[in-house]
Amino acid sequence: MTFFTFLSKFPTEEAIIDYFIQIRYGGVLICPHCKSTVNIYRYRQRLKVFHCKSCNNDFSPFKGTIFEKSTTDLRKWFYAIHLFLNARKGFPALQLQREIGTTYKTAWRMYHQVRIAMQNGEFKPFEGVVEMDEAYFGGKPRKRPPKLYDPSTYDESKKLTTGRGTTQTAVSGLKERKSGRVYTQIMPPNELGERVAGPQLMEVIDKTCAPGTTIMTDEFSAYGILDKPVKPKVDLSLLDGSEPAETAPRYRHHTVCHKRYEWVAGVTEDGELIHTNGIESHWAILKRSRIGIYHSISPKYKPRYLKEYEFRQNTRTMPPLDVFDLLLKQSVLKPT
Ligand SMILES: [Zn+2]
Repeated sequence: MTFFTFLSKFPTEEAIIDYFIQIRYGGVLICPHCKSTVNIYRYRQRLKVFHCKSCNNDFSPFKGTIFEKSTTDLRKWFYAIHLFLNARKGFPALQLQREIGTTYKTAWRMYHQVRIAMQNGEFKPFEGVVEMDEAYFGGKPRKRPPKLYDPSTYDESKKLTTGRGTTQTAVSGLKERKSGRVYTQIMPPNELGERVAGPQLMEVIDKTCAPGTTIMTDEFSAYGILDKPVKPKVDLSLLDGSEPAETAPRYRHHTVCHKRYEWVAGVTEDGELIHTNGIESHWAILKRSRIGIYHSISPKYKPRYLKEYEFRQNTRTMPPLDVFDLLLKQSVLKPT
């Protein structure tokens, strides 16, 4: 959407509120107190609040959305969203602060609310061919001073865990080849400290891919789990104590061997090239962005940055106005 489209579409705060009601409620306001849809009036001064004459109560259509607790003018909010969506590679809060004349804190908070809306979308499982890979973010971990490596004095509890000593964040990613849609998630360590072991990767695959999906990975050994037969959980109906039969793997698996400098490992029986270049190009985008460069994104916010780039990727072929509307629809916070 160009700046001029934006201007003509949203000339006043009132126009913005009407647009929001159209997108969020299909144009019909319902009083949350008495469920009435008639006799609802707007205040001249307090635009965000409506009055229901049927029950004499006030309500806000922005309750339960990312805009709820904000006193910032909605024109600033919508312009901020417009800027954020238009900038393919992300838009810094510092620049937003200058553009709309708020404090840095307000600008920063607005964009985090927008990121929350971005991650609110519904996920449709991947099928067909899916590329999967993992990457590490957050700057390179520095080497510890050699004295700390002395096994006689090394104290695990004194290990540097912040700043220089941080280890990078492991992220697992999948990309559906046909649609170009991406799914990424941070891999927290299990009780053994492993982050990308086979069962953990399998959990992500089961969550995101329909059975029968063809999964392409590199030679990383943890993906070997994809080739193993699956033992179903013990079925209580098998009372004779017999072992449940093993079934074939749920997914088809092809690997490309990057260690051998192989980038395309041939063609599948369905004529699909075997490679993981698609998901790797998503890593390249992330590595050039804030998340790949700075240590300073706290682990708490990292998933939001991941979801921001996921949203950008997954909506990249949609008309800009549809993306804007989608974000507004997703601005409703999930009940916590
Ligand atoms: Zn009412």
